[in-house]
Amino acid sequence: MTANHDRTAWLKGGTALCKTPPPRQLQPRRLVLLGAPGIGKGTQAELLCERLGTCHLSTGDVFRAAKSISQCERTPALESALDFMKRGALVPDTTVLDMVRERVRCLTCAGGFLLDGFPRTVVQAEALAQILQQNSVFLEAVLSYDLPLEQIVARLGGRRTCPGCKAVFHITGRPPKKAGVCDHCGGALYQREDDRPEAIRVRMDAYEKSTAPLIEFYRKQGLLVSISADGKPEEIYQRSVAALNARTVVGQSRS
Ligand code: AMP
Repeated sequence: MTANHDRTAWLKGGTALCKTPPPRQLQPRRLVLLGAPGIGKGTQAELLCERLGTCHLSTGDVFRAAKSISQCERTPALESALDFMKRGALVPDTTVLDMVRERVRCLTCAGGFLLDGFPRTVVQAEALAQILQQNSVFLEAVLSYDLPLEQIVARLGGRRTCPGCKAVFHITGRPPKKAGVCDHCGGALYQREDDRPEAIRVRMDAYEKSTAPLIEFYRKQGLLVSISADGKPEEIYQRSVAALNARTVVGQSRS
């Protein structure tokens, strides 16, 4: 599973409730993950959520879940969002922000959150800051994963996703126990449409243009924590937690 609880409220939006909400945390972790496609962000999100108890809020997962809604039930905005997604292009900010605002309960959830794939532009980051402030919750940190471009491209080609529980594997880096089958729920693993070569090129370009400025945005706010995404998932995870803990210690000694 991508987390130890379901994410119905996030995936469906509106008034949908989670069957097993994340446990209430004394100090809920509220984090954003940044990194180019294929850098291993999804895997880190999975590990961080399992072990820190937070909820994995991925905007990409919301759009992918929306694909199963019948065409006549889709709003024109959703229909057009899915079209952008299919081409690997970014969905317009207004559509993404409407979707996030409709799920604001997940941002104030006492279990905390780990945002993945959102914000992706400075406009989205500014809107997120405003939404959080209006709801009296604040970001703890923004984990930004770095890796040279050639290594990213090699990783993307082998990525496989479970349609059921959204777990992410890699044919060589993190293979499932049985080829093509999800370890967690037995789903048949597939290669995402937007992980195919043509879409990858568009996504990398979109990332460079729209998402890289976010790193500067969060650096200026003192929220950025840069982490090397080189190595095995467990090593990267340990590096991430060490960086977060170091931050907490520095923050405490300052106050
Ligand atoms: P991801 O799973 O985060 O790589 O997202 C898959 C696709 O969903 C992206 O290539 C975009 O088309 C769309 N998408 C997800 N999140 C956003 C966002 N915050 N802003 C714009 N488009 C997004």
